[in-house]
Amino acid sequence: MSAFWAEPDFDAHELVQLVHDRASGLTAIIAVHSTHLGPSAGGTRFWHYADPAHAMRDALRLSRGMSYKNAMAGLPMGGGKAVILADAARTKTPAMLAAFGDAVEGLGGRYVTAEDVGITEADMVAVAQRTAHVSGLPVAGDGHAGGDPGPFTARGIYLGIKAAVMHKLGRDSLQGVHVAVQGTGSVGGGVARLLARDGAKLTLADIHAGRAAALADELGGVAVAADRIMATPADVFSPNALGAILDDAGIAALDCAIVAGGANNQLARPEHGTALAARGILYAPDYVINAGGIISVATEYLARRAGRTGDIAEVDALVAQIPERLESIWAESAATGTPADVVADRMAQKLIGRG
Ligand code: NAD
Repeated sequence: MSAFWAEPDFDAHELVQLVHDRASGLTAIIAVHSTHLGPSAGGTRFWHYADPAHAMRDALRLSRGMSYKNAMAGLPMGGGKAVILADAARTKTPAMLAAFGDAVEGLGGRYVTAEDVGITEADMVAVAQRTAHVSGLPVAGDGHAGGDPGPFTARGIYLGIKAAVMHKLGRDSLQGVHVAVQGTGSVGGGVARLLARDGAKLTLADIHAGRAAALADELGGVAVAADRIMATPADVFSPNALGAILDDAGIAALDCAIVAGGANNQLARPEHGTALAARGILYAPDYVINAGGIISVATEYLARRAGRTGDIAEVDALVAQIPERLESIWAESAATGTPADVVADRMAQKLIGRG
């Protein structure tokens, strides 16, 4: 048996805790990568792993990813992640959520949890009965930080696309700029609506074809089959569905100048950032451009801890910095001939005191 802390994914985590609660049957891993900038923040994933080693790998990789994302978003938060190991039937009980909340509370604020794959807002409300260290709880009314992160994420991506179009195409308007949008859910749909307001030309695709067609009708765009979107000739390809789509075949199929979208972990492997750069395609590193949602939920958490509600103006100010971050990445990438994803990782490592 090799120790997980000898694996490259361990990357000097500050703390990795295995939680087992016999009474409820909860088994979970809480990974705290870095608290250099503040309490580690990242969602809880509820997933059935055929091999528990994959659960550990997921926790470690996602936790490091949150360190980078929070740092590049300018948040006073470190990076962490939790994984609850579900059984094959994905049994989730109130007792398990309560035990998980107790485990988070036991870390005394060193880890702040949130929703992720397999966890609902109602689950997080249940966890919040046992610990105050929960972000992304529902907020009443508009005008506050928190609530559904999708619209904030979409806004950051829209601003990032504008910056990319200026940087790569030298155009200061999106009028007539052709954007191919993959995925028309919460994030992709929001991005498409913002682009349409600026007169962008839209091609949309979703595996739920009716969803893309309805949005195309509404916005005056064109819907294509999901398997055609990556090869659509366009100025910008905006992935807002799945991760790992930028693999050998995906990159070869692209017919665009820019890749800028919100999907997490778009590069199938690290070398695919180099492959994009070799094709002369400008890449907006995913965790930098899609940080609007985490900015909103983190602002909500920090404000609640300070006994107030988070102001939407605070969120907007941080989201407005996303284009500047991207600009500095692209400038350094051009100056040093280093792919944008590598530049972003190095900047993030410096920010968390590991550069
Ligand atoms: P969502 O479920 O609302 O939307 C995803 C859409 O993609 C769905 O309509 C789905 O049918 C479609 N889809 C799935 N596979 C597809 C495929 N192969 N081709 C075309 N369409 C496909 O999810 P979301 O909240 O919009 O998130 C989208 C992506 O952005 C995910 O990768 C998510 O991890 C990432 N992300 C979301 C947020 C957020 O605030 N919601 C924040 C950061 C990152």
